[in-house]
Parts: sequence; C-alpha cells; structure tokens
Amino acid sequence: MHRPIYLDCHSTTPLDPEVLEAMLPYFTEAFGNPASNSHSYGWEAEAAVKLAREQIATAIHARPEEIVFTSGATEANNLAIKGAAEANLAKGRHVVTVVTEHNAVLDPCRYLETLGFEITRLPVEADGLLDLTKLEAVLREDTVLVSVMAANNEIGVLQPLEDIGALCRSRGVLFHTDAAQAIGKIPLDVQAMEISLMSLTAHKVYGPKGIGALYVRRKAPRVQLAPQLHGGGHERGLRSGTLYTPQIVGFARAVSLGLEKMAAETERLVELRDRLHQALLPLGGIQLNGHPTFRLAGNLNLSFEGVDGQALLLALQPTVAVSSGSACTSAKIEPSHVLSAIGRDDALAYASIRFGLGRFTTTAEIDQVAKHVTVAVQALRR
Ligand SMILES: *Cc1c(COP(=O)(O)O)cnc(C)c1O
Repeated sequence: MHRPIYLDCHSTTPLDPEVLEAMLPYFTEAFGNPASNSHSYGWEAEAAVKLAREQIATAIHARPEEIVFTSGATEANNLAIKGAAEANLAKGRHVVTVVTEHNAVLDPCRYLETLGFEITRLPVEADGLLDLTKLEAVLREDTVLVSVMAANNEIGVLQPLEDIGALCRSRGVLFHTDAAQAIGKIPLDVQAMEISLMSLTAHKVYGPKGIGALYVRRKAPRVQLAPQLHGGGHERGLRSGTLYTPQIVGFARAVSLGLEKMAAETERLVELRDRLHQALLPLGGIQLNGHPTFRLAGNLNLSFEGVDGQALLLALQPTVAVSSGSACTSAKIEPSHVLSAIGRDDALAYASIRFGLGRFTTTAEIDQVAKHVTVAVQALRR
C-alpha cells in the first residue's frame, strides 16, 4: 500500500531526522529539569535550553532573554494579544487585526471583545495583501496593539512587515506578528522590522509539535505583558511550567536547519511549485489564490472552476494529502474565511486546493500529483 503523497506542509511537517537526533538524548539520559540548580542533571538540561534559546534568538535578531517558550503559536498568540491588552489598559482598549489571520489570532481578539475591547478587522486586497493606508487610517490614540501575520497559512501571502513595523513604531503602537508559517522559510529580523511581539512554532518547520515561542521586546521600547499562565514563575514570570527540554532542543535545531537551507530551499520550492502550476494550467478554469510572488515558496492555492470541492478532495484522498481551506477549521464545512476575504465566491472557495510543498517533496512526486489532479478534475467536470 502506497501512502498518499504529502503536500500539506502548512498544516504540519515531518520531523527532520537531524532534529530527532538532536532531541533523543534529552528523552533519556539528559532528563533533568532545567530549573533544578542544585545538581548536574539540572545543569545539563539548563545548558541545552540556554543554547537553544540563543539559537532561536539569533535566528530572528533578538536577544536570548526576549524568547519565552510556549506550547506553540496558538499559546504565543494568546499570550501576546491577551497579555498586551491586559497590561496596557491605561493606554486604551483598541486592537487592530486583519480578516485573513489564523483563528489563533482572531479568537483571542473575539475574546477581548467580550471584555469590552474594540477590535478593528482590516480587509485585504484581492491579492491578499494589506493596504497600509487602511492600517494608518484606523490607528488611534487608544490603539494598544496591531496584529498582522507574517505569512498566511492558506494562501501563503507575505505581508510587508517592515512597513507595518515602521508605521506602528511612528504611532507608538505595539506590533505583533504571527510568524508560525514564516520562521525558517523567510528572513525575519525583529530589529529591521520593528516588531514588538512575534509568535513562533516548531512543527511547521520540520521540528516537533507542542513547542513554540513568543518573542517579547525588552528594549526600545520594553513591552509590558500580563502572564496568562501562573505558577512557578518560569520564563521571567511570563509563562510558568517546567520547560520541555527535548522539544526546545528540537525546535532550535529545526530553526537553525531552516536558516541554513533557506536560500537553496526557497529556490528549489519555487521551481517545483511553478512546475505544478504550469502542469495544471492546461485544465483551464484555474484561479490562483493570493499574490503571485509575495508568497511562501512552498505554497500553491488554486480554485478549480466547475468542480465540487468536497468531491475533488475525496477523489484525491488515496493519492495526494492536501487541504481545502484551513485544516484547523476543516471539521466545519464552511468556505474558508481567507478565500472569502480575497473575494472568492462560496463555490470557488469550496473548490480550492492548498498545495503545501516542503523539504522532502520531490520532482517525481510533483509530476505524479499533477497527473492525479488532472484526472480528478477532468472526471468531475464531465
Ligand atoms: C499552525 C499555525 C498556528 C498554530 O500553531 P500551533 O503551534 O499549532 O499552535 C498559528 N498561526 C498560524 C499562521 C499557523 O499556521
């Protein structure tokens, strides 16, 4: 039995064997609690966490003490958004975000609304990009936070972080970015991009699930956050709970590998992604969702005219593992909020496929996928 070809790398990625290798000793001999400072078991774990923290900080041009480990990007987003809102009540109760954000940003914002905060959700243009003049127009005296993702998990669109950062800085507003899809794929620099808070996760970049981090700016200006988990005061009081050493070590190795391979991998994936796109074009009636070039190298999101989306996904199930819309909400049969935001009608939104190519995707697989999709679409259109 052949397993389907995996093209769902925006949902999660397989662990890189080098990452697994780095993690293994910390499940067994090196099992100490990094917070135990009275013996060598603790010191050994603490040294591993310290090195990992430095590697992750370096990857985004931050300082090690600005990295707060969390269980992933969902928790990091919650800490950033709810934590910044709660700690900056004196300034105001207005938060700005974008309609195409992940639910891990939209839902904390919805929660803040129930507490009396006002949320502005900006639209995007037809290519998925945020128009900066629209952002500028909604900023107010009482705006405490702007949250705009780095790379979209459905259509791969890359937002102009540097411009958003400069605007937020000039208006004295905190800037949070959900970089779950971006870390290890595109260059991230919290200094050049003037980012106040950045959410990261390991499992989209060939690291383990259940680990991520929040970058919290400590200088120029220092960001105030209210913790959302209370306990032993780990992570400078911002996130209590015993640190998960193997996951942290794997996270750092994954991020470092992502950085090492970034340039070559971007080039390779753009080539494969364009190869797939070109191979499908003869089908006709295909629309690309999202900006053609300001997008993740491994992302191809297409709508197929005249095809029932569910039927297409079902037809591909044995051969190709892909998603329609966002996997995180695919339990609900609702058109993707991202595709609706870029103006796709319900039928085209349903009839969309998100191809997520990754480090282990081969040319032979891409050619196979092009064949399977062509056969399925032609059959469904007949
Ligand atoms: C996957 C993802 C998340 C959630 O990350 P977890 O680490 O799984 O909690 C948040 N935001 C975006 C953009 C994502 O792609």
